[in-house]
Amino acid sequence: MRHSRLTLLVFTTTFTLVPAVSAQDFGYFGEDGPPHWAELTPDFAVCGSGEEQSPVDFSRRALRGRTFNRVPASYGSTEGEIFDTGHTIEVETEGHNVLTLDGIEFELVQFHFHTPSEHTIRGRGADLEVHLVHRSAAGELAVVGVLIRRGKSSGALAPFFELLPDEPVGRQHLTDEFDPADFLPSNRANYRYRGSLTTPPCTEGVRWIVLADTVTITDEHMARFAERVHFNSRPVQRRLQ
Ligand SMILES: [Zn+2]
Repeated sequence: MRHSRLTLLVFTTTFTLVPAVSAQDFGYFGEDGPPHWAELTPDFAVCGSGEEQSPVDFSRRALRGRTFNRVPASYGSTEGEIFDTGHTIEVETEGHNVLTLDGIEFELVQFHFHTPSEHTIRGRGADLEVHLVHRSAAGELAVVGVLIRRGKSSGALAPFFELLPDEPVGRQHLTDEFDPADFLPSNRANYRYRGSLTTPPCTEGVRWIVLADTVTITDEHMARFAERVHFNSRPVQRRLQ
């Protein structure tokens, strides 16, 4: 780690993360792709100058020091609205879903997907990654990332992929409630680090929890998602040693 424990403590108590809202759009290819995000607007400058940018690759050595056995979350019955942001498929959530980290309570506000996965583990990624985004009362963010590979079943994620329309439409209220805990693999071993949003404005100070194990999605659901979202994955920004 670059920071001493003391520095991190000070950082934690004094830094309030409020992502800037910008009308500037960004992309994943060409002139507005990830290498150029910092040039698109001064609001995105930290995408280029930041020192704790996400996503990361977890090296074998990094994994030894960062592995935890449980995800400190209390999830339950949740309602949601699904919509296409233009960059991903997102579900805004309503329910009492609390993640507690560093003594701070973070409430789940939304989850969304990236293809292929953004985080890699010992250099290996997956077909998809879901990000469960939590926000504290002070506006700080904590994100739980789960890598998703192709398999026989889409498990608890199936209903969201069944709902994907062929064309972008407005928000759809999900008729069935769901439990975000069901999105996590049964083995809850996870890695933690301090990073950033993986989309502009790339704001830092985000507490990341990335599950070591994967869940699965069917070929059919993967194809359905890929039709709507072709590629929305920021390259690995650094390798955690
Ligand atoms: Zn994300």
